[in-house]
Amino acid sequence: MGVKSFIAQYHVDFRLKDLNGLAAIANDFDLIGLDCDGTTSVFHGSEPDGRIIETLLAIAPKAEMISNSSFDGLKRIRDIYGALMPVSKMVGFGILKEPHLLRFNRGGGLRVLKYLPTQGIFYDCTEQLVSGDRLLEKITSQYQKPNPLVLLAVVALAKQEKRIPEKNPRVLYVGDKYSTDVRCANQAGVEAARVPTMGQFSDLREWRIDYVAARLLFDLPFGGFMSWLASTGWRDDKEKSDEKIKDLPGRRVV
Ligand SMILES: [Mg+2]
Repeated sequence: MGVKSFIAQYHVDFRLKDLNGLAAIANDFDLIGLDCDGTTSVFHGSEPDGRIIETLLAIAPKAEMISNSSFDGLKRIRDIYGALMPVSKMVGFGILKEPHLLRFNRGGGLRVLKYLPTQGIFYDCTEQLVSGDRLLEKITSQYQKPNPLVLLAVVALAKQEKRIPEKNPRVLYVGDKYSTDVRCANQAGVEAARVPTMGQFSDLREWRIDYVAARLLFDLPFGGFMSWLASTGWRDDKEKSDEKIKDLPGRRVV
């Protein structure tokens, strides 16, 4: 990867003071993906921050929670936000490690959809892999942000279920971390919004990488130059990624 495309992964389209900043831009988007820990609540928090509840309620019809949590963590997030919006993560089962979208529907049960990214096809494996809230197979691999696959799958599914336009939907991903959320958005070719982390970072290593490497480079005055660099490279990448999203056809879930 060249320096230019590396920097482009850190491009931020919207720097928000907190999640309430979404109120001013939410109408421009067809779908809004949200990070959980540090973005809508403190790390492993048991409830959303009270100051952002109204905004969450307002954007909920077009919002999707996308997480890097464990399966137990995903259930915790479902317990908090599942009535408002779908909650998803991407994993692999067995030695083939094919990507499967684990997805709690809004207010509903768990679905598992095998995802074939190049063809944009989903196979519904819920019957074989799910019993109530339990998975019948062991998760053997994780497709975690900054891997854009989970975000691309959520967008492709929204197209197939006709919740967003097939052609050029406007998608935003909102998170607190550069190393996972912002990079994931840019690699998926969607717009990126960053909010400052609510509460503490989950560990010191993350803090060093994210806060020191990315925040100092991209947020402080010197960051004006870096952000400009990011935006110049970002245009090429984004066009390519738009093609990638467009290439994912609106086929039915098989
Ligand atoms: Mg976070």
